[in-house]
Amino acid sequence: MAKVTEHIAKANGKTLFSIEIIPPAKGARLSELMDAVEPMMELKPPFIDVTYHREEYFKKKLSDGTEKVISTRKRPGTVGICSAIMHKFKVDPVPHVLCGGFTKDDTEDLLIDLNYLGIENVMALRGDIAKPYDTFKAKKEGHLFASDLVKQIEKMNMGKYLHEDSEYLNKSNFCIGVAAYPEKHFEADSLDIDFENLKNKIDQGADYIVTQMFFDNQKYFEFVKKCRENNIHIPIIPGLKVLATKKQLEILPKLFYLGIPDDLKKAVEKAEDDKAIKEVGVEWCVQQCKELMEFGVPALHFYTMSKSKTTMAVAKQVF
Ligand code: FAD
Repeated sequence: MAKVTEHIAKANGKTLFSIEIIPPAKGARLSELMDAVEPMMELKPPFIDVTYHREEYFKKKLSDGTEKVISTRKRPGTVGICSAIMHKFKVDPVPHVLCGGFTKDDTEDLLIDLNYLGIENVMALRGDIAKPYDTFKAKKEGHLFASDLVKQIEKMNMGKYLHEDSEYLNKSNFCIGVAAYPEKHFEADSLDIDFENLKNKIDQGADYIVTQMFFDNQKYFEFVKKCRENNIHIPIIPGLKVLATKKQLEILPKLFYLGIPDDLKKAVEKAEDDKAIKEVGVEWCVQQCKELMEFGVPALHFYTMSKSKTTMAVAKQVF
């Protein structure tokens, strides 16, 4: 098994194909996920990201008429899925590790489990805001920002555990990815402030960056230029999504705070049916990929939502 940065170095300038998958909803079988992922193995992704989904809250009415706040997780299973894909497909899993919902001790336990399994990569994230709330709240003994999580992982890589620090303790050896937002994270007051916060994650020990999806390559190019001008020389992997429905024209900008170029919008609006919309989305993404490969990106990282069809329609044309 290898680190994401080692896979990139070994590729020697050739762009890699990589994917992000999401755990199935609670109660579904792992075999369904495996069946969905299997077709994408044809293109030999060296690593696969597996998202993490924190708890959500809702109010339940009790028989005595009172209400109780219940916490539930709709998509558990990230660690199990990572272990399963590592053994079945012999690829490196990249589990997403969150601040949200975790104390520092929970995080340490999770990292110890990942280390036992031989997983060498993690994506360190703050995590989405817990539903139905509208601001992020850390656990009392948890991290508020991804930079603090990166620091904890980096410390473990030096053999410094939360409550023990001795030269006799085993060091973990995680390669750490972090998220970045070419069009700004929605909570940041400005691109510059967001950029300073990204720099902090890298100063704490991040090894590579994966970007939020974008549909306008210019945003990625500007972001990479700014990173390089500011002495950030770690790999910057572009995140890509194939637009597949008309509804996404509205949903994606709201969910991910990104812009959809007018030409793409017009082409989708002109398309006659769902099949034609998918064709527009695939063609747009193919053109994005070709330009990004020419630019020399280390990998094309597809947000697949554990569905292979549109990703494969794009990837087969560019790899
Ligand atoms: P941070 O880097 O902590 O930044 C969050 C905000 O805080 C930003 O606005 C930043 O500018 C600001 N900030 C950072 N440091 C400071 C500071 N010291 N002081 C003040 N402000 C600060 N979510 C999930 O729940 N599960 C997943 O599996 C998942 N995977 C993702 C994968 C990728 C590639 C990306 C791009 C996002 C993913 N997300 C996931 C969503 C992500 O968790 C959210 O976008 C979240 O709101 C921010 O996460 P972050 O790690 O970028 O946070």
